[in-house]
Amino acid sequence: MDRNKLYRMIPKVDILLEDRTVQRLAETYGHGIVMEMIHQEMDRLRELIRTSQDADRIESEISQLPQTIERETEALFVPRVRKVINATGTVLHTNLGRAPIRRDQAEKLADIVSGYSNLEYNLEEGRRGERYAHFEKLLTRLTGAEAAMVVNNNAAAVLLVLSTMARGGEAIVSRGELVEIGGKFRIPDVMKQSGARLVEIGTTNKTHFSDYEEAITEDTKVIMKVHTSNYRITGFTESVPAAELRELADRYEIPIIEDLGSGVFVNLEKYGLTHEPTVQEAVAAGIDVISFSGDKLLGGPQAGIIIGKKKYIEQMKKNPLTRAVRVDKFTVTALELTLMEYLFEEKAAERIPVLQMIRESEETLIPKAEKLAAVIRERTSGADITVEKISSQVGGGSLPSELLNGAAVVVHPHSISTGRLEEAMRTCRHPIVVRTADDSVKMDVRTVFEEDFETIAEVLAEILG
Ligand SMILES: *Cc1c(COP(=O)(O)O)cnc(C)c1O
Repeated sequence: MDRNKLYRMIPKVDILLEDRTVQRLAETYGHGIVMEMIHQEMDRLRELIRTSQDADRIESEISQLPQTIERETEALFVPRVRKVINATGTVLHTNLGRAPIRRDQAEKLADIVSGYSNLEYNLEEGRRGERYAHFEKLLTRLTGAEAAMVVNNNAAAVLLVLSTMARGGEAIVSRGELVEIGGKFRIPDVMKQSGARLVEIGTTNKTHFSDYEEAITEDTKVIMKVHTSNYRITGFTESVPAAELRELADRYEIPIIEDLGSGVFVNLEKYGLTHEPTVQEAVAAGIDVISFSGDKLLGGPQAGIIIGKKKYIEQMKKNPLTRAVRVDKFTVTALELTLMEYLFEEKAAERIPVLQMIRESEETLIPKAEKLAAVIRERTSGADITVEKISSQVGGGSLPSELLNGAAVVVHPHSISTGRLEEAMRTCRHPIVVRTADDSVKMDVRTVFEEDFETIAEVLAEILG
């Protein structure tokens, strides 16, 4: 193999720049980036010539150089964050962006963020306003709390609450509530970051009222409750409800704070689900400061909502850390829109996608799955398409012991393996994330929007023929 001859076959840069394809690329994407891709591809070819024994392949790659440059340049301009069809049935899928926002609300959001807004401007008084003002009234009305603010996510909220209220002092927490949320977010680590000293009391399964009382010292700054959202301790257990701690806290004049995890405003029992402590219950129990996520069961944007007594919320607004974890106009807008839905609670359960999806039952999901199956059968005969019952989890560390009964479209491909089909669906232009079991691909329709049925059928027809 004559490597020198192959090296000489690589076109010179100025010759490449006269190529029609390359010229069009430079016009569309700019000369600079195209030059970068030309050099990148030339380096790759030189490396190939140095290491490969396959002269035919090298020659073919050299002749394809403009097309390769085109493909690589265009790929740079395809956003990496893409819409994904979630056919796992997991409603709050942390890897897939948790709570979806309704399209008409997303459109209102686009209207606000693509222009200027009164994010921090008081239109009535013509002067600087507060970015929390937009939803503080809504939050206090909905929850019964005195005051409210919002930061980037609940992890930041917990950090801010502890840093404001317990820095340099002790925070008492039950050993049964020292949770790891996921992504290495552990309550004890956050407490360390906040500058509070953790005082663990009780045991994993039992913590008594007296454990709290005995742990109180001069240095106690807060009593902290953490809702164990993602696991349950069952059997021989005891924990002290916040309402009982109230009396103790009053006696020693120590505030109680609670990390509720997934905050819900509606009583899920009404919809046949396990009771999840609501935000209103925590307020009514007399907790001084409560924090929860915006994008778990609440069904809004990623946010950490903090509500409670005015004097503590005021302190938090003044903490320099607040600036570092503050929300932007995307969050402020989407959150206000979500919270407004809760003013009419019965409607909220129908109109907020997360609540609507977790309330769906087999009775509604089986016909939905039948409909998707029919759309798919119309496009391809490369697989057996059936409908079966399936159960899924809520996800996002919410309602861990709850299994939601629903329905799935089951795809059993004729000519490729289930693994290949799953991969092809995941990596195609319209990625679809599915479950695989019993040597077939299963699409739980609970989390699939009807507007995506055609796309799913198209993708399957492309893959299966
Ligand atoms: C999910 C969760 C968090 C973290 O909330 P993010 O909004 O994801 O930052 C904190 N505490 C508890 C108990 C949780 O369940």
